[in-house]
Amino acid sequence: IHIARQLCPDGNKCSKLSQEDHLESYSHPGIRDIRLLCKIPGYKCSLRSNDEHLKKYRHNKNHDHFSTAPSSNLNSSINFARNQSHLIKTVNIYIDRSNWSKEKISPEILNWIRALQPVHRCRKEIFESILVLGHVMSRHYMNLLEKQENVGRAVQQHSRVRLIFLKYNNPVVKENVGKLIEILVEIEFAKANLHGKRSADADSEQKISMMEKRLQPPLEGKDIQAIHEWTTKIARASIDLSTNKAGIGYEVDPKLGTDKHVFSIMGPHLGHYYGDIVITFKQEIMFHPDANFTIQAGTTFYSQNIYKQRLWMKDPGNETKRIEHFHHSKLHCSVPRYEYATALELVASVGLEHQSMNVNVEAILEKWISVDSHQTLEGHLPQLIPLDYVDRVYIPKNVFEDLSPEARQSAKGAFKDSLIISIYDSDENKPGDTPKDMLNHPYSKYVFEELCAAIKQRMDRPHISRGIVITVGASDFAEHIVLPISITQAQYLYYLDKPQSPDGPEFIYIYWQAMDGDMMLTLTNEKIEPGGEQFNMKCLICYIAKKPSTVTEEFHETFTYLNDDLPYQHGNNVNAVRLKAKSNTFYRGCNTDDYFTFCLKLNYRTGHVTLSHAGPNSIYNHEKIEYKFNRAELDLSKLDYIHLSAGTQDVPVRNLTINLEPIAELHPIVDTQFKRDTSNLLERYLVATAHNNPAPPITNRAKKQRPLAINPRSNINKSVILGRIA
Ligand SMILES: [Zn+2]
Ligand SMILES: [Zn+2]
Ligand SMILES: [Zn+2]
Repeated sequence: IHIARQLCPDGNKCSKLSQEDHLESYSHPGIRDIRLLCKIPGYKCSLRSNDEHLKKYRHNKNHDHFSTAPSSNLNSSINFARNQSHLIKTVNIYIDRSNWSKEKISPEILNWIRALQPVHRCRKEIFESILVLGHVMSRHYMNLLEKQENVGRAVQQHSRVRLIFLKYNNPVVKENVGKLIEILVEIEFAKANLHGKRSADADSEQKISMMEKRLQPPLEGKDIQAIHEWTTKIARASIDLSTNKAGIGYEVDPKLGTDKHVFSIMGPHLGHYYGDIVITFKQEIMFHPDANFTIQAGTTFYSQNIYKQRLWMKDPGNETKRIEHFHHSKLHCSVPRYEYATALELVASVGLEHQSMNVNVEAILEKWISVDSHQTLEGHLPQLIPLDYVDRVYIPKNVFEDLSPEARQSAKGAFKDSLIISIYDSDENKPGDTPKDMLNHPYSKYVFEELCAAIKQRMDRPHISRGIVITVGASDFAEHIVLPISITQAQYLYYLDKPQSPDGPEFIYIYWQAMDGDMMLTLTNEKIEPGGEQFNMKCLICYIAKKPSTVTEEFHETFTYLNDDLPYQHGNNVNAVRLKAKSNTFYRGCNTDDYFTFCLKLNYRTGHVTLSHAGPNSIYNHEKIEYKFNRAELDLSKLDYIHLSAGTQDVPVRNLTINLEPIAELHPIVDTQFKRDTSNLLERYLVATAHNNPAPPITNRAKKQRPLAINPRSNINKSVILGRIA
C-alpha cells in the first residue's frame, strides 16, 4: 500500500539515483517507492554510496552532518554578487579592447571549478596541536591561545567537552564546568612559567575537589575525568604552540584580515614551503558563511604583484584601496555564477600569452603548476574547523614516524581511513624550487596526482548541492549568523538575464534542510548586531520547533511559528502564545530521523508568509503555517538579511538557497486520484490496528517494518501515514 507518486521526469535516464531524498520523492521504473529499510543505519552502512544498494534500500540515521565550525560573521560586509559581476565585467572589457580571440567557457572548466576542494598544508608542530585541540585553527586563533582565558574557551569548544555541555544542558553545570576548566588551565600555565617545578598547590587542589563535588552528580565520573584530561592536554598544547611559534605568521595578514581564516588553496596545493602535511577539506566547508576565496592570494593585492600578473586589474594606487580591492574580489561558492566568474579569470590568465580565450582544463592545470601557489585560487576558511570536515590527510612516512607516539595514535583515531601515510619520505627541496621542480620528487608528485584524481572523481559524481552549509551552534538564540547572500543580492543575480517586472518581484522562496529543529531563521531590514541597540529593526521570525521525541510514548510537539517580534523575545512570546501563526502538528507524518526540508515563501503583493515542508516530507505532511502581514505591520519588501540561530542544541543546516521561483523538484506531487480510491480502505485498516494496539498504531518495532522515527500519530491525513510502512 502506498501513495502514488509522480514519475520522475527523467525516468530511466535519471541522474539522481544516488540521492535518497530524490528517491523518496519520485517514482522510478524498477525501484519501489518505499524501498526496504536497510538494517544498518546510514552512517554505518558501507554500501550507502553504492547506487545498486540504494535502489533497493533506504536508510535512516544518515547523520551526514558536521559538528559546529563557529561563525564569526567574517563575510558580513562582503557583497559577493556584486564582486563576481565586477570581475566578469573587468575581464570582458579587457579582452574586448585588446581584441582577443573569443570562445565560450567550456562546461568542463565550470565542472572542474565546482569539483575543487580546499587544501591546507602544515608542519608537524602545528599538526600535533591540531590533533589535541580537535580543530584546524586560524593564525589569529592560535595567537589567542597565549592567554589563559582563551584557552579555557578553547577547551569548551572541544568536541568531547561540548558533548558534555549538550548532554546536561544546564546553566549551573555549564558555569561550574567553566570554573573547573579555569582552575585547571591556571595550574598548567603556572607550571609552565616555573618550568614545571611547581605542581598544583594545596589551595588549588582544594578548589578542584570542591568543583568536582558540585558537579557530580549530575555529571558522571567519566565525564569529569574527560574534562580534566582534555583541559590539561589542551592547556599544554596551547603553551607549546605559543612558545615555538612555527613561523607561518605574515605581518600583512592582519591588515587583510586573512589571519582570521584558515588558509587553503582551492585545488592542488603546491606551496611546499608551508609544510609537508597536506590536509584536504570536504567541499561543504566552502559553503560555510565565513568561507570565501580569491583568484590569487590576498598578499598579491598588497604587494601589487597581481596587477602585473592580471593586466585587466588596475592598481587602485594606495594600500587602503588595494586592501579594499582584495575584499571586493572575494567570491563565495554558494552564490550562483561564482564558477563562471572564476572560470573567466582562470581562462584569461592562461590565455593572456596568446590573447585567446580558447583554453581548456589541461592548459589551466599546466599554468597552475608553473606558477607560485600564491597565484592560484586562495581559499579563506572559517577560523575554527572541527576535524570531521577533513577529507584526507597526506603525510610523508618519515614525518609520521617523527610524531610523538600519542600524536600518531590520535591521528589514526581521529582520521581513520582518511589518514594516508605515504610510502615516500618528504622531498628534499632547494630554495627557489618551483612547483614544477617539486613535481619531479616522489612525495609531491604522489600528492598532486591524488588531488587531481579526487577532482576528477567529483567531476564524474558531483555530490554537493550549491546552498549554504553550516551547523549552527547552540546559543539560546543569542547568536545570529548572517548569511553571505542577501535577498536583494539574490534578486539582482536573478534579473541579470531576465526582464524585471515593473512591480518588482512577486515571490521569494527560501529553502533549507535542517535536522532536529529548535532553530530560527530571521529575516531583517538591518543585520542583527549582537549587543547593539537597534530601534529601527524589523524582523520576521520563522521558528522551527524541536522535533518531538520518538523515544517516549508521550507525544508532545511545541509550536513552530511565524512572528514579527525580536528574536530575543522568543521565550516570552512562546509562553504567552503571542505568535502570528503557529502549529504544533508540524511534524506529524514526517520522517524525523533525517534532514527536513523547509520552504519559507513570501508573497510581496499580498503580504502572505507561508512556511511548509518541502521534499519527501511534503508528501506526508501538508501543513502550511501562514500569516498575512499588512504593510503597516511589517513591510516584507524591506526584509533583506537572513540569519540563522539555534536554541539548546547544535542544528545542522544545509542547502539553504534563496529563489525567486519555486524549485519544482522539492514539491513532489501526489497522484490525488489514486489516494481517493484507497483512502477508505486505509482508514479502516488504521482504525482497526489502533484499536487493538493502544501504542502508536504502526510502530511495529519487533518486525522492523518501519523506520522508528516516523512520527506516528497523525490526525491530519491517516491514509498518508500508511504510505511509509508499505
Ligand atoms: Zn529521478
Ligand atoms: Zn545500507
Ligand atoms: Zn547525528
